[in-house]
Amino acid sequence: MNILDGKKIANQIKEEIAVEVAQIQTRGEKVPHLAAVLVGNDGASLTYVGSKVRSCKKIGFESTLIHLPEDTTEAVLLQQVADLNANSDIDGYIVQLPLPKHIDEEKILMAVDPDKDVDGFHPTNFGKMALDMETFIPATPFGIMELLRRYDIETEGKHTVVIGRSHIVGRPISILMSQKGKAANATVTITHSRTKDLQEFTKQADIIVSALGVPDFLKATMVKEGVVIIDVGITRVPDATKERGYYITGDVDFEEVAPKASYITPVPGGVGPMTIAMLLKNTLLARKRRQD
Ligand code: NAD
Repeated sequence: MNILDGKKIANQIKEEIAVEVAQIQTRGEKVPHLAAVLVGNDGASLTYVGSKVRSCKKIGFESTLIHLPEDTTEAVLLQQVADLNANSDIDGYIVQLPLPKHIDEEKILMAVDPDKDVDGFHPTNFGKMALDMETFIPATPFGIMELLRRYDIETEGKHTVVIGRSHIVGRPISILMSQKGKAANATVTITHSRTKDLQEFTKQADIIVSALGVPDFLKATMVKEGVVIIDVGITRVPDATKERGYYITGDVDFEEVAPKASYITPVPGGVGPMTIAMLLKNTLLARKRRQD
Protein backbone atom coordinates (compact mmCIF):
# COMPACT_ATOMS: atom_id res chain seq x y z
CA MET A 1 0.00 0.00 0.00
CA ASN A 2 1.28 3.45 -0.93
CA ILE A 3 0.04 6.76 0.43
CA LEU A 4 -0.93 9.44 -2.08
CA ASP A 5 0.56 12.27 -0.06
CA GLY A 6 -1.57 15.26 -0.99
CA LYS A 7 0.09 17.46 1.60
CA LYS A 8 3.55 16.85 0.14
CA ILE A 9 2.43 17.36 -3.48
CA ALA A 10 0.43 20.46 -2.54
CA ASN A 11 3.55 21.93 -0.91
CA GLN A 12 5.55 21.21 -4.08
CA ILE A 13 2.91 22.97 -6.18
CA LYS A 14 2.87 25.93 -3.82
CA GLU A 15 6.66 26.17 -4.03
CA GLU A 16 6.45 26.14 -7.84
CA ILE A 17 3.86 28.93 -7.72
CA ALA A 18 5.99 30.92 -5.25
CA VAL A 19 8.91 30.78 -7.73
CA GLU A 20 6.64 32.22 -10.44
CA VAL A 21 5.40 34.92 -8.09
CA ALA A 22 9.01 35.90 -7.31
CA GLN A 23 9.66 36.19 -11.06
CA ILE A 24 6.55 38.34 -11.47
CA GLN A 25 7.82 40.62 -8.69
CA THR A 26 11.28 40.81 -10.27
CA ARG A 27 9.70 41.97 -13.53
CA GLY A 28 7.91 44.67 -11.53
CA GLU A 29 4.49 43.28 -12.44
CA LYS A 30 1.45 42.97 -10.21
CA VAL A 31 1.27 39.81 -8.08
CA PRO A 32 -1.91 37.67 -8.14
CA HIS A 33 -4.69 38.83 -5.83
CA LEU A 34 -7.30 36.36 -4.56
CA ALA A 35 -10.41 37.45 -2.67
CA ALA A 36 -12.69 35.18 -0.64
CA VAL A 37 -16.23 36.01 0.40
CA LEU A 38 -17.52 34.23 3.48
CA VAL A 39 -21.08 34.65 4.71
CA GLY A 40 -21.78 33.58 8.28
CA ASN A 41 -19.72 31.62 10.79
CA ASP A 42 -19.88 27.98 9.71
CA GLY A 43 -16.92 26.34 11.46
CA ALA A 44 -15.69 24.29 8.51
CA SER A 45 -16.02 27.24 6.11
CA LEU A 46 -14.06 29.49 8.48
CA THR A 47 -11.28 26.87 8.56
CA TYR A 48 -11.21 26.46 4.76
CA VAL A 49 -11.21 30.19 4.03
CA GLY A 50 -8.59 30.76 6.73
CA SER A 51 -6.19 28.26 5.20
CA LYS A 52 -6.78 29.66 1.69
CA VAL A 53 -5.86 33.16 2.88
CA ARG A 54 -2.82 31.89 4.83
CA SER A 55 -1.61 29.96 1.79
CA CYS A 56 -1.83 33.14 -0.31
CA LYS A 57 0.42 34.98 2.13
CA LYS A 58 2.98 32.14 2.16
CA ILE A 59 3.45 32.13 -1.62
CA GLY A 60 3.45 35.89 -2.11
CA PHE A 61 -0.11 36.46 -3.37
CA GLU A 62 -2.19 39.33 -2.17
CA SER A 63 -5.41 38.23 -0.50
CA THR A 64 -8.60 39.84 0.76
CA LEU A 65 -11.13 38.21 3.06
CA ILE A 66 -14.62 39.67 2.96
CA HIS A 67 -16.48 38.27 5.97
CA LEU A 68 -20.18 39.13 5.96
CA PRO A 69 -22.72 38.39 8.72
CA GLU A 70 -25.06 35.38 8.56
CA ASP A 71 -28.10 37.63 7.95
CA THR A 72 -26.59 39.28 4.84
CA THR A 73 -29.32 39.63 2.22
CA GLU A 74 -29.06 38.22 -1.26
CA ALA A 75 -29.13 41.77 -2.67
CA VAL A 76 -26.15 42.82 -0.53
CA LEU A 77 -24.19 39.74 -1.54
CA LEU A 78 -25.00 40.35 -5.22
CA GLN A 79 -23.70 43.91 -4.82
CA GLN A 80 -20.51 42.53 -3.23
CA VAL A 81 -20.07 40.20 -6.20
CA ALA A 82 -20.64 43.09 -8.62
CA ASP A 83 -18.01 45.15 -6.76
CA LEU A 84 -15.48 42.31 -7.02
CA ASN A 85 -16.22 41.91 -10.72
CA ALA A 86 -15.55 45.63 -11.23
CA ASN A 87 -12.45 45.81 -9.00
CA SER A 88 -9.47 45.64 -11.38
CA ASP A 89 -7.11 44.87 -8.49
CA ILE A 90 -8.77 41.48 -7.88
CA ASP A 91 -7.65 38.72 -10.28
CA GLY A 92 -9.92 36.00 -8.96
CA TYR A 93 -12.32 35.34 -6.12
CA ILE A 94 -14.40 32.67 -4.50
CA VAL A 95 -17.71 32.75 -2.70
CA GLN A 96 -17.34 30.09 -0.02
CA LEU A 97 -20.13 27.51 -0.07
CA PRO A 98 -22.51 26.61 1.46
CA LEU A 99 -24.33 29.94 1.67
CA PRO A 100 -27.06 30.53 4.26
CA LYS A 101 -30.42 29.02 3.24
CA HIS A 102 -32.08 32.39 2.49
CA ILE A 103 -29.59 33.07 -0.34
CA ASP A 104 -30.03 31.47 -3.76
CA GLU A 105 -26.61 29.91 -4.40
CA GLU A 106 -27.20 29.54 -8.12
CA LYS A 107 -28.07 33.22 -8.48
CA ILE A 108 -24.82 34.22 -6.77
CA LEU A 109 -22.61 31.83 -8.75
CA MET A 110 -24.21 33.03 -12.00
CA ALA A 111 -23.28 36.62 -11.11
CA VAL A 112 -19.55 35.89 -10.76
CA ASP A 113 -17.50 37.13 -13.73
CA PRO A 114 -16.34 33.88 -15.44
CA ASP A 115 -12.89 35.46 -15.93
CA LYS A 116 -12.53 35.79 -12.15
CA ASP A 117 -14.28 32.53 -11.27
CA VAL A 118 -11.22 30.67 -9.95
CA ASP A 119 -13.50 28.02 -8.39
CA GLY A 120 -14.67 27.10 -11.91
CA PHE A 121 -18.32 26.90 -10.80
CA HIS A 122 -19.83 29.31 -13.37
CA PRO A 123 -21.72 27.50 -16.20
CA THR A 124 -19.39 29.11 -18.77
CA ASN A 125 -16.35 27.57 -17.11
CA PHE A 126 -18.05 24.28 -16.31
CA GLY A 127 -19.20 24.04 -19.94
CA LYS A 128 -15.69 24.74 -21.21
CA MET A 129 -14.35 22.06 -18.88
CA ALA A 130 -16.90 19.56 -20.20
CA LEU A 131 -15.82 20.42 -23.76
CA ASP A 132 -12.13 20.02 -22.86
CA MET A 133 -11.39 23.69 -23.52
CA GLU A 134 -8.91 25.73 -21.46
CA THR A 135 -10.67 27.09 -18.39
CA PHE A 136 -10.66 27.21 -14.60
CA ILE A 137 -11.17 23.60 -13.50
CA PRO A 138 -12.92 23.28 -10.11
CA ALA A 139 -10.16 23.02 -7.53
CA THR A 140 -11.03 19.65 -5.94
CA PRO A 141 -11.27 17.59 -9.17
CA PHE A 142 -8.28 19.55 -10.52
CA GLY A 143 -6.37 18.52 -7.38
CA ILE A 144 -7.34 14.86 -7.78
CA MET A 145 -6.16 14.89 -11.43
CA GLU A 146 -2.87 16.52 -10.45
CA LEU A 147 -2.29 14.00 -7.64
CA LEU A 148 -2.89 11.10 -10.07
CA ARG A 149 -0.57 12.72 -12.63
CA ARG A 150 2.27 13.37 -10.20
CA TYR A 151 2.14 9.82 -8.82
CA ASP A 152 1.99 8.48 -12.37
CA ILE A 153 -1.10 6.40 -11.61
CA GLU A 154 -2.20 4.43 -14.66
CA THR A 155 -5.77 5.44 -15.51
CA GLU A 156 -6.03 4.62 -19.20
CA GLY A 157 -8.74 2.02 -19.81
CA LYS A 158 -9.16 1.60 -16.04
CA HIS A 159 -12.59 1.38 -14.51
CA THR A 160 -13.09 4.41 -12.27
CA VAL A 161 -16.12 4.42 -10.01
CA VAL A 162 -17.10 7.83 -8.66
CA ILE A 163 -19.37 7.89 -5.61
CA GLY A 164 -21.38 11.13 -5.48
CA ARG A 165 -22.65 13.40 -8.25
CA SER A 166 -22.24 16.90 -6.77
CA HIS A 167 -21.52 19.81 -9.10
CA ILE A 168 -18.25 20.54 -7.31
CA VAL A 169 -16.69 17.07 -7.07
CA GLY A 170 -18.46 13.93 -8.36
CA ARG A 171 -19.82 15.31 -11.63
CA PRO A 172 -16.68 17.20 -12.76
CA ILE A 173 -14.22 14.42 -11.80
CA SER A 174 -16.30 11.90 -13.78
CA ILE A 175 -16.12 14.18 -16.82
CA LEU A 176 -12.39 14.88 -16.46
CA MET A 177 -11.34 11.27 -16.01
CA SER A 178 -13.31 10.17 -19.06
CA GLN A 179 -11.61 12.75 -21.29
CA LYS A 180 -8.40 12.27 -23.24
CA GLY A 181 -5.07 12.99 -21.55
CA LYS A 182 -2.90 12.11 -18.61
CA ALA A 183 -4.72 10.80 -15.52
CA ALA A 184 -7.72 10.36 -17.80
CA ASN A 185 -8.87 8.01 -20.60
CA ALA A 186 -10.64 5.99 -17.92
CA THR A 187 -13.94 4.15 -18.22
CA VAL A 188 -16.05 6.00 -15.69
CA THR A 189 -19.14 4.96 -13.76
CA ILE A 190 -20.83 7.67 -11.71
CA THR A 191 -22.87 6.43 -8.75
CA HIS A 192 -25.12 8.26 -6.29
CA SER A 193 -27.75 7.87 -3.60
CA ARG A 194 -30.19 6.20 -6.02
CA THR A 195 -27.67 3.66 -7.31
CA LYS A 196 -28.84 0.10 -6.69
CA ASP A 197 -26.30 -2.30 -5.21
CA LEU A 198 -23.35 0.09 -5.13
CA GLN A 199 -21.01 -2.75 -4.15
CA GLU A 200 -21.50 -4.37 -7.55
CA PHE A 201 -19.73 -1.33 -9.02
CA THR A 202 -17.13 -0.62 -6.35
CA LYS A 203 -15.97 -4.27 -6.31
CA GLN A 204 -15.12 -4.02 -10.02
CA ALA A 205 -13.36 -0.67 -9.72
CA ASP A 206 -9.67 -0.16 -10.44
CA ILE A 207 -9.99 3.36 -9.05
CA ILE A 208 -12.59 4.69 -6.61
CA VAL A 209 -13.22 8.40 -6.06
CA SER A 210 -15.45 8.73 -3.02
CA ALA A 211 -17.24 12.06 -2.50
CA LEU A 212 -20.35 11.53 -0.45
CA GLY A 213 -19.51 12.75 3.05
CA VAL A 214 -20.39 9.67 5.13
CA PRO A 215 -17.63 8.61 7.56
CA ASP A 216 -16.23 5.09 7.09
CA PHE A 217 -18.76 4.37 4.33
CA LEU A 218 -16.40 2.40 2.09
CA LYS A 219 -15.45 -0.93 3.65
CA ALA A 220 -12.86 -3.55 2.69
CA THR A 221 -15.57 -5.95 1.48
CA MET A 222 -16.64 -3.34 -1.12
CA VAL A 223 -13.29 -3.11 -2.93
CA LYS A 224 -10.97 -5.40 -4.82
CA GLU A 225 -7.30 -6.06 -4.13
CA GLY A 226 -4.98 -3.41 -5.64
CA VAL A 227 -7.62 -0.68 -5.95
CA VAL A 228 -6.58 3.00 -6.03
CA ILE A 229 -8.60 4.99 -3.50
CA ILE A 230 -9.21 8.73 -3.63
CA ASP A 231 -11.10 9.76 -0.50
CA VAL A 232 -12.62 13.23 -0.96
CA GLY A 233 -14.90 13.11 2.07
CA ILE A 234 -14.28 15.46 4.97
CA THR A 235 -16.57 15.04 7.97
CA ARG A 236 -16.17 16.53 11.42
CA VAL A 237 -17.08 13.85 13.94
CA PRO A 238 -17.83 15.18 17.45
CA ASP A 239 -15.27 13.87 19.98
CA ALA A 240 -15.06 15.29 23.49
CA THR A 241 -11.57 13.81 23.98
CA LYS A 242 -10.14 16.12 21.29
CA GLU A 243 -9.11 19.66 22.08
CA ARG A 244 -11.16 21.01 19.15
CA GLY A 245 -14.17 18.88 20.15
CA TYR A 246 -14.12 16.85 16.93
CA TYR A 247 -11.90 14.84 14.63
CA ILE A 248 -11.82 14.85 10.84
CA THR A 249 -12.42 11.72 8.82
CA GLY A 250 -13.07 10.68 5.24
CA ASP A 251 -15.57 8.39 3.50
CA VAL A 252 -13.24 5.42 3.59
CA ASP A 253 -12.64 3.06 6.49
CA PHE A 254 -8.90 3.61 6.18
CA GLU A 255 -7.80 0.88 8.61
CA GLU A 256 -9.76 -1.76 6.73
CA VAL A 257 -9.35 -0.59 3.15
CA ALA A 258 -5.70 0.58 3.10
CA PRO A 259 -4.18 -2.96 3.28
CA LYS A 260 -6.12 -3.92 0.12
CA ALA A 261 -5.31 -0.73 -1.80
CA SER A 262 -2.30 -0.15 -4.06
CA TYR A 263 -2.60 3.62 -3.43
CA ILE A 264 -4.79 5.56 -1.03
CA THR A 265 -5.23 9.18 0.03
CA PRO A 266 -5.33 9.86 3.78
CA VAL A 267 -7.84 12.21 5.41
CA PRO A 268 -6.64 14.70 6.42
CA GLY A 269 -3.58 15.25 4.21
CA GLY A 270 -4.89 13.93 0.88
CA VAL A 271 -7.32 15.73 -1.39
CA GLY A 272 -7.91 18.68 0.99
CA PRO A 273 -4.46 20.33 0.63
CA MET A 274 -4.53 19.65 -3.13
CA THR A 275 -7.77 21.63 -3.40
CA ILE A 276 -6.11 24.71 -1.92
CA ALA A 277 -3.01 24.34 -4.11
CA MET A 278 -5.13 24.17 -7.27
CA LEU A 279 -7.19 27.20 -6.25
CA LEU A 280 -3.90 29.10 -6.06
CA LYS A 281 -2.89 27.71 -9.45
CA ASN A 282 -6.17 28.95 -10.93
CA THR A 283 -5.56 32.38 -9.40
CA LEU A 284 -2.10 32.52 -10.97
CA LEU A 285 -3.69 31.57 -14.30
CA ALA A 286 -6.26 34.37 -13.86
CA ARG A 287 -3.46 36.89 -13.25
CA LYS A 288 -1.50 35.71 -16.29
CA ARG A 289 -4.60 35.99 -18.48
CA ARG A 290 -5.24 39.53 -17.29
CA GLN A 291 -1.56 40.45 -17.81
CA ASP A 292 -1.67 39.31 -21.47
P1 NAD B 1 -22.79 16.62 -1.66
O1 NAD B 1 -23.08 16.55 -0.19
O2 NAD B 1 -23.25 17.76 -2.46
O3 NAD B 1 -23.34 15.31 -2.35
C1 NAD B 1 -23.12 14.03 -1.85
C2 NAD B 1 -23.31 13.04 -2.97
O4 NAD B 1 -23.21 11.75 -2.43
C3 NAD B 1 -24.68 13.15 -3.65
O5 NAD B 1 -24.47 13.23 -5.05
C4 NAD B 1 -25.39 11.84 -3.29
O6 NAD B 1 -26.15 11.33 -4.35
C5 NAD B 1 -24.24 10.91 -2.97
N1 NAD B 1 -24.61 9.94 -1.96
C6 NAD B 1 -25.16 10.16 -0.74
N2 NAD B 1 -25.38 8.98 -0.12
C7 NAD B 1 -24.99 8.00 -0.96
C8 NAD B 1 -24.96 6.60 -0.87
N3 NAD B 1 -25.38 5.95 0.20
N4 NAD B 1 -24.45 5.92 -1.91
C9 NAD B 1 -23.99 6.55 -3.02
N5 NAD B 1 -23.98 7.89 -3.15
C10 NAD B 1 -24.48 8.62 -2.13
O7 NAD B 1 -21.25 16.31 -1.87
P2 NAD B 1 -19.95 17.17 -2.03
O8 NAD B 1 -20.19 18.63 -1.85
O9 NAD B 1 -19.33 16.65 -3.27
O10 NAD B 1 -19.12 16.69 -0.75
C11 NAD B 1 -18.87 15.32 -0.50
C12 NAD B 1 -17.83 15.19 0.59
O11 NAD B 1 -16.61 15.71 0.10
C13 NAD B 1 -18.14 15.97 1.86
O12 NAD B 1 -17.63 15.25 2.96
C14 NAD B 1 -17.35 17.24 1.69
O13 NAD B 1 -17.01 17.85 2.92
C15 NAD B 1 -16.14 16.74 0.97
N6 NAD B 1 -15.43 17.72 0.16
C16 NAD B 1 -14.10 17.74 0.28
C17 NAD B 1 -13.34 18.61 -0.48
C18 NAD B 1 -11.85 18.59 -0.36
O14 NAD B 1 -11.20 19.55 -0.68
N7 NAD B 1 -11.28 17.45 0.06
C19 NAD B 1 -13.98 19.49 -1.36
C20 NAD B 1 -15.36 19.42 -1.49
C21 NAD B 1 -16.08 18.52 -0.73
